[in-house]
Amino acid sequence: MPTREISNRKSGPKQFIYTFSGGRAEGDASMKNLLGGKGANLAEMANIGLPVPPGFTISTEVCTWYYEHGQTYPERLFEEEIPRALATIEEALGRKFGDPENPLLISVRSGARASMPGMMDTILNLGLNEQTVAGLARKSGNPRFAWDCYRRFVQMYGDVVLGLKPADKKQKDPFEEILETRKHKLGITVDTEFSTKDLQEIVGQYKAAILDKTGRSFPDDPHEQLRGAIGAVFESWNNERAIIYRRLNHIPGYWGTACNVQAMVFGNMGENCGTGVAFTRDAATGENIFYGEFLMNAQGEDVVAGTRTPLDISQLKEENPEIYRQLDDIRATLEKHYRDMMDIEFTIENNILFMLQCRVGKRTGPAALKIAVDMFKEGLIDEKEAILRIEPEQLNQLLRPVFDVKEKQAAVQSGRLLATGLNAGPGAATGKICFNATDAAERNRRGEPVILVRIETSPEDIKGMAVSEGILTERGGMTSHAALVARQMGKVCVVGCGALSIDYQKGEMRIEGSNVVLREGDDLSLDGTTGEVIAGSLPTRNSEIIEVLVDGTRKPEDAPSWEVYNQLMQWADRYRHLQIRANADQPDQAAIAITFGAEGIGLCRTEHMFFGGERIQAMREMILADDLEERNTAISKLLPYQREDFYGLFKTMGSRPVTIRLLDPPLHEFLPQSDEEIMRMAIGMGKPYEHVKERIAALHEFNPMLGLRGCRLGILHPEITIMQVQAIMEAACQLRQEGLEVVPEIMVPLVSTLKELEITAKIIHKTARSVIAEQWIGVKYLVGTMIEVPRAAITSAEIATAADFFSYGTNDLTQMTLGMSRDDSGQFLPTYQQYDIFPRNPFESIDIEGVGRLITISASDGRSVKPDLKLGICGEHGGDPASVEFCHKTGLNYVSCSPYRVPVARLAAARAALLG
Ligand code: PEP
Ligand code: MG
Repeated sequence: MPTREISNRKSGPKQFIYTFSGGRAEGDASMKNLLGGKGANLAEMANIGLPVPPGFTISTEVCTWYYEHGQTYPERLFEEEIPRALATIEEALGRKFGDPENPLLISVRSGARASMPGMMDTILNLGLNEQTVAGLARKSGNPRFAWDCYRRFVQMYGDVVLGLKPADKKQKDPFEEILETRKHKLGITVDTEFSTKDLQEIVGQYKAAILDKTGRSFPDDPHEQLRGAIGAVFESWNNERAIIYRRLNHIPGYWGTACNVQAMVFGNMGENCGTGVAFTRDAATGENIFYGEFLMNAQGEDVVAGTRTPLDISQLKEENPEIYRQLDDIRATLEKHYRDMMDIEFTIENNILFMLQCRVGKRTGPAALKIAVDMFKEGLIDEKEAILRIEPEQLNQLLRPVFDVKEKQAAVQSGRLLATGLNAGPGAATGKICFNATDAAERNRRGEPVILVRIETSPEDIKGMAVSEGILTERGGMTSHAALVARQMGKVCVVGCGALSIDYQKGEMRIEGSNVVLREGDDLSLDGTTGEVIAGSLPTRNSEIIEVLVDGTRKPEDAPSWEVYNQLMQWADRYRHLQIRANADQPDQAAIAITFGAEGIGLCRTEHMFFGGERIQAMREMILADDLEERNTAISKLLPYQREDFYGLFKTMGSRPVTIRLLDPPLHEFLPQSDEEIMRMAIGMGKPYEHVKERIAALHEFNPMLGLRGCRLGILHPEITIMQVQAIMEAACQLRQEGLEVVPEIMVPLVSTLKELEITAKIIHKTARSVIAEQWIGVKYLVGTMIEVPRAAITSAEIATAADFFSYGTNDLTQMTLGMSRDDSGQFLPTYQQYDIFPRNPFESIDIEGVGRLITISASDGRSVKPDLKLGICGEHGGDPASVEFCHKTGLNYVSCSPYRVPVARLAAARAALLG
């Protein structure tokens, strides 16, 4: 695990533990780094007088120390600090840890700086043994309850600390198996039907199974139990799912987790007890309603694990109006205090309400936008904060497709609607059914879209969820851990679909009330906005915002999501410094880019203009020409196409800047491959098949990415550059005549030396001037270069002398700086990321220390000789929020990205400006 600089003293950090209890705490919400999110918020809730069971937090520094010292603890932790902190809980409650007469039971939970729902471990009811369970039975007057707690404790501890788990993906959980067998024997269906005697026997069976399968006997000493649980919490920081979650969410390994130890309160002591989870607003839509679920006579894990389907919070109002009122007051207090939508966990013990957790609530993209805009209107936050509340990537969810209404209706009418579950994650998803994460990952590797179908949404599924289009579960509520994770990932998700009956072993699912059986690999569609599950695949249609902006099929006033999107974009534009351009080669792409707010084109890849129909033929003829005359013939066919293309592009963009890059075709992408294509080419060129085949072979390159491409092509064959510049300038002149002033930015690709740029620029100027002279029309133009070769980056002071602008081509710059093929790195980068060699895929997010350093040097050297040198970026990184932030800090003028990423880039640029 990567380390950071922390105290290396043998004794460890100065303060290991921070206590909290009603009205008073040693920590507060600002101490997330040290106390983790859960610990910091428990302290904050205690400080503002909310009813929090007393407890203490062992800091993240202890976890870091634990890993840096061979999984050992600092001196004094167990000898002095924990006993001191336990004493404060004992004092607050008048119970004693391990006391057979009046036992204190505790929970031990993980809690990192950033929330990692369900990824790490938790132990409840710790402190129970044969003596204390009897004490608890006497004290509560409810032996069944006491033994139920003990049963749950042995199960959790046996799994998490002692490691008794299913042997493989097809095996059932050994504890569940014992439970199921007994239920079957007794002819009962739910846990609540077990008698005290049953539970006592189950505990005995559990302990025997643990001893038999792990060789470890279940500890009776509560202090030994506590030590094991703390170790398991720290260890769970590095379990597989936590590591994957961290990788997906860019959480560094060195943060470590805190460990929260807290007095147990019981939601399962009887009918005036209960437990629940809630959001202060609707986490799926953002609507300002209290949104949550609860279960009476249950413990927290019953709600989140989805083993019983919980009730809507509005029912609590009827069942227990006083508790509901208190909870609703707390909802208002928390929103006012945190000025954000919060996610809370609570327990009712004998009609007394306790708050077990609060944190800023995860929400879908649409909810994030609505909540931010609403909170601005309510005066809780200002517009700057509203911008900072939205992760740029969340915008994507608003742009995501939905099902085509007609197609869906037809599917429903023809009986394909199988069932309806809870609409946990909006959007439309279609794919092949997979029943476990491993198979989902495998299908995804084969390029197939996947719908992950699980009985309940377990955190073990994270790997499968990440690669799936959508997630469907039989059990679980809107607040089940994995539903939270799905929303955070922006996945389409339907949970708690009770009509399903899934059999992992057979690899099939049945639908209640019908004889439909769906098997692994069958097509399935999920509507995450309505919760509908539909057999077969379904075509999708654009989202409300796309319909307003791109299709023009919906009026803005009929699209509430467009309204909040538009408001947010207006705020973003007010604060950003960076301009946002788009990479587009066709007028229709350019038009879409404008509707998304693009202020220009940062990259028109001219080779992409030749992909279709006859054009590719002419392009291939040019590449395969045997001599200048033949090449000129092919080029003369290309000229009118090019002129028309540039005219269309300029006209669409109006007075906005357009950067046209001269031809940069890696030859292998353009040459015919199959015999059939070669034959067609030969016939078209009027040459023998063998001749064309030989010519292709002669053009073969071992490293096409480092071969005859970029400016090298125009240096060898200036006639190509001349044709392109002629087309650009003639189109600009024509538009000038029509009254539109266009200033083309002509860009030279793959330059590594000043000389290359000078030679090419000379051809450009000569051609441009001759068009201007011929047409008698004054058109301004700029000549610039891409910086995508490391040599160009470090000689930018020289190169700038011949350039009006630089555009960082970070795709090639990354490839060449890292010596890592952009086309082949997919094979090893996933493993690299597992080893934390790169925190992110460097082809997605700029490698700031390497590639970023080159850009910084280049920008500063370039501007040292030409202070007004225009700087932009046009590699794929232009749409990545972290890279946009880097570009802002480096002082670039613009970022250019694909049209659909423009909103993300606008927001990311505003956030970068606001965060300074
Ligand atoms: C780049 O290399 O970053 C770039 C934009 O050019 P291309 O992707 O066309 O090589
Ligand atoms: Mg390039």
